[in-house]
Amino acid sequence: MATALQEVIVSPVTPVVMEEEHVQGRDRVPREGFREILAQAQRENRSYLMEHECKELLEGMGIATTGYLVAGSEDEAVEMARRVGYPIALKIVSPDVVHKSDSGGVRLDLKRAEEVRSAYREILGAYRCQHVVGVSVQKMAAPGVEAIIGVTRDPSFGPVLMFGLGGVFVEVLRDVTFRILPVTERDVEEMVSEIKGYALLAGYRGRSVDLPALKRLLLQISEIVSTFPEIRELDLNPVFLYPEGNRVVDARIFIGEVEEKAAVTKAVDLKGFFYPRSIAVLGASGTQGKLGYNVMSNLLSHGFAGSIYPINPKSPEVQGIKAYRSIAEVPGPVDLAIVIVPAESAPAAVAECCDKGVPFLVVETAGFAETGGEGAKAQTRILEMIRAKGCRILGPNCSGVINTHHRMVQSIGLMDDLGRGNIGLIAQAGVYAAGILTGLRNVMDFGIVATIGNKMDISETEILEFLGNDGNIDVIAMYMEDVRSGRRFVDVARQVSGKKPVLVLKSGRTEAGKKAVSSHTASLAGNDAINSAAFRQAGIIRARDNEHLFGLMKAFAKQPLPKGDGVLVVTYTGSLGVAATDTLYLNGLRLADLEPALKSRLERIIPDYVKTLNPVDYSFSMEPDQLVRTIEIGVESADVGSFIVVIQGEILGSFVEVLRRIDPCGKPILCCVACKEFMMADVIQMEKAGIPVYSTAEMAAEVLAAMYRYGVDRERRS
Ligand code: ADP
Ligand code: MG
Repeated sequence: MATALQEVIVSPVTPVVMEEEHVQGRDRVPREGFREILAQAQRENRSYLMEHECKELLEGMGIATTGYLVAGSEDEAVEMARRVGYPIALKIVSPDVVHKSDSGGVRLDLKRAEEVRSAYREILGAYRCQHVVGVSVQKMAAPGVEAIIGVTRDPSFGPVLMFGLGGVFVEVLRDVTFRILPVTERDVEEMVSEIKGYALLAGYRGRSVDLPALKRLLLQISEIVSTFPEIRELDLNPVFLYPEGNRVVDARIFIGEVEEKAAVTKAVDLKGFFYPRSIAVLGASGTQGKLGYNVMSNLLSHGFAGSIYPINPKSPEVQGIKAYRSIAEVPGPVDLAIVIVPAESAPAAVAECCDKGVPFLVVETAGFAETGGEGAKAQTRILEMIRAKGCRILGPNCSGVINTHHRMVQSIGLMDDLGRGNIGLIAQAGVYAAGILTGLRNVMDFGIVATIGNKMDISETEILEFLGNDGNIDVIAMYMEDVRSGRRFVDVARQVSGKKPVLVLKSGRTEAGKKAVSSHTASLAGNDAINSAAFRQAGIIRARDNEHLFGLMKAFAKQPLPKGDGVLVVTYTGSLGVAATDTLYLNGLRLADLEPALKSRLERIIPDYVKTLNPVDYSFSMEPDQLVRTIEIGVESADVGSFIVVIQGEILGSFVEVLRRIDPCGKPILCCVACKEFMMADVIQMEKAGIPVYSTAEMAAEVLAAMYRYGVDRERRS
């Protein structure tokens, strides 16, 4: 044994702290204390902070732990155990051992000096060929509810806080929740209550844990990470939660270089970008089939009212408009330049625009970062250029902006007439946006559509902020493959969602999806659980797929928010009424209960063999006139906040006029028509009358519930 012990390298830097206060967690180590620990780790070229070092930091912030005494000898361990009080836990302290119990480095519940001695020797024996700093001597924590608290770094959002219950909850059920740091009281409140194991925290078999103390601990961890940006990862596993207070039983931290904050580009007003008075088109063409032809043609055919300057070195005019050989020759100022020249000429074109003093550029040309290699280098050169000159770029690899309120269509594909609507759409890919615009033209009108492509400069976050303040836009939908501005995106989205709904469809959820994304717009998708958490934190409504997104978009764009959680369901068939009802209850809404007088009025309208008054079931005999009178009754009821109307497809057309004329006094109406895909003409008429139509009662109810939740949340925040 003696020889084995001699091989152990006992580090001279062992911090042995023995004051009683430390053990009991009363002492406050000043922040400088942790700075010193960090400095020492850096000197020793370590990225891993050992348990006792972490606990010193935690105790310094007033967080209770099992203590951070480290013994350098068996006698010292026994002396420490006597002072701490039995029972005792001993653990290996080594910069090389991260998972201590896996390799025999943790001995628990030692009740006597003799046990401490033999455990001490056994631990050293197990690690005789490794660098051992000493053996940590700590109090055995009383059993409690085991929790895990962690911090990790997300490539998009930066530091992220995780919370969950320990043991099988985290290992098997993955019952954890995330929030982007720093967190607010509301965030930690939500974290604690949204895990599936919440019942165990709130009170199970008469025992509950100290929730205020737990929330305080989560806020303290957030503060620690803000104070020490060197912290890359942090793991408190386990933390024991008690009816009163809590105790950190194990801790580890990984440190690294402090990341430079991404250079924040000076906030510019994008008004001139979305509402320019003059546009130059570099690469404008008179040859049909060329992208430069389409861009020019779109500007002209949609009636852009400002000046248009085609730039083309070869022809004196393009599509009937005087052209210039270079942008330098354009006589007046240019608010915005669209670049649609071949990729190899794009950097020179951008340089000319910068020299001319054009504040905003849209580079629609593809062949940059998304192709890697030379393309990526060219993109970097362009970025350096515009940073130096202070101009801003959308793209490259995008389809520009559409602002129907400004009659501006910059798309690379020819676009037919577009109505002026109140939906703002931010999409990474141009073709996707064009497809949506054309495909949904009959049922939804857009206001501003921005396609961002490789988003080398102007980001989705800046556009979101602008749309949040644009009076023409009431609803914002985003299709995203990645999020680059991280925490700032969360902050901006939170601000905007307090004013108008922000709907997000984020793709790239699976590994396969991510690959498709990378080859597409040079993006890397973040961890999906973290995305969901960030969206929740930002007040964003996340759509599961395109159909869900469109379903949400049209309801938010056309209908007011529900006035309460009670819903009046009017249906021609009981079955769809039941389907709607189930979904309403699953999503936090309920069937409204009419006042007695209104019930009697309703009874006079419905067939006498029908017994239920909500869902109001007309059993195949629903007439437009009955529907109007039913809705009028619902409008008068204080318990009805919204309507779901299930209409028979075959006679849908006969309902359009009455629904167009009805005034539901600010209460939303959503319509369900089973198999609507096969009755498109009437469905379109209904949509044009402002009533969103869904193919299933479940979707109608789900969308209604999302609107209700959004309204409640916005109310709470204002
Ligand atoms: P590891 O490095 O393996 O994660 P831990 O320090 O977490 O080591 O110890 C392993 C387990 O031993 C813990 O999950 C906890 O259940 C128990 N444990 C460790 N230290 C104590 C202590 N001071 N009091 C009570 N239980 C402890
Ligand atoms: Mg542990």
